[in-house]
Amino acid sequence: MSDFSNRLLDWYHNNRRILPWREDPTPYHVWLSEIMLQQTRVEAVKGYYARFLDTLPDVDALAQAQEDTCLKLWEGLGYYSRVRNLQKAAQEVMEHWGGEIPGTSDELKKLPGIGPYTAAAIAAIAFGERIPAIDGNLLRIYARLERYEESIRTPAAQKKAAQYFAEQMPERSAAWNPVRENNGKGGTIAKDNPCGNFNQALMDLGNAVCLPGSAPACGQCPVADFCRIHKECPGKETSLPFIPAPKEKKTELLTVFMIRSGDRTAVRKRPARGLLAGLYEFPNAAGHLDDKEAVAWLRKNHVEPVRIKKIVDAEHVFSHKKWIMQGYEVITDPFAEQSIPFIMAGEEEIVSLYCIPSAFSAYSDWLIAQKQ
Ligand code: SF4
Repeated sequence: MSDFSNRLLDWYHNNRRILPWREDPTPYHVWLSEIMLQQTRVEAVKGYYARFLDTLPDVDALAQAQEDTCLKLWEGLGYYSRVRNLQKAAQEVMEHWGGEIPGTSDELKKLPGIGPYTAAAIAAIAFGERIPAIDGNLLRIYARLERYEESIRTPAAQKKAAQYFAEQMPERSAAWNPVRENNGKGGTIAKDNPCGNFNQALMDLGNAVCLPGSAPACGQCPVADFCRIHKECPGKETSLPFIPAPKEKKTELLTVFMIRSGDRTAVRKRPARGLLAGLYEFPNAAGHLDDKEAVAWLRKNHVEPVRIKKIVDAEHVFSHKKWIMQGYEVITDPFAEQSIPFIMAGEEEIVSLYCIPSAFSAYSDWLIAQKQ
């Protein structure tokens, strides 16, 4: 084993984070956690992870679940295509793999929603494959270790980082037994797994020591002796990695209507394709409509307002666009509710049945506040 590996794994042994999916790293657990952790902080994932497993404890249960159940369990995590792909992949595992999650990164990449990073992470952590899982953390650490001064947002940087860590990675353990139980629930648990641990050590190093943005804690870094930026330009570690400025996000204006009749509020299902596909939302229109335009939009949609007033403004930033929203509360005549073409739901139902994405959380919160 290289000196780099030895020091990193020793450090990991003493400093590793205790995380629920690490305590019982079946392929299903590792897969679920890796999908949840994309774009989401570890602390935020823990509760979702436990709740998801309580309801859908194995691949079979996930494959058979109603889509709305999966979406509800994901509510608030965002990027809902992740859970849709997770379910599609579970159905493929049941149909084509006899209920066993495939055990190599090449096979895993063929499943919906599993890209090269996730495939490598599952293969290394759950099956002991000797492959580095390159994400933003590892790219940052690589750029600093090797003083890589080009953009890290390129396939060339990915390749170099993968080569570098593959060279440092320990051999697959001879004690590691890749034969899995044929239990249809994801198989055996990795216990003696240096390749999985090497990847997790780098994840923890990026989380606790070689931090993004703020100054890295080089004094506590187990691989500081191998780090070129630290040795050659001490104090300048945060100058790397080089990340080119992001493109301006497209801005869209929206008017959100909280249409209320008695104690019910209108929600509707979004189209089956596109942004936030198939989730529920409060009815809304493109643009920032003034009172007169808002009333015209409501009438066009068969809603007869008795009273209308401006409520909260909100913003939501997606990966590629930004919504700037203004809201109206619209009180309608309960006797005219039949003509409203939306689902009229009580607050309880909105909370428990309809998955409303966090893009509308200012309006969900506003609704809850009306009760208090
Ligand atoms: S020495 Fe500092 S900059 Fe280099 S890898 Fe360690 S924490 Fe990161």
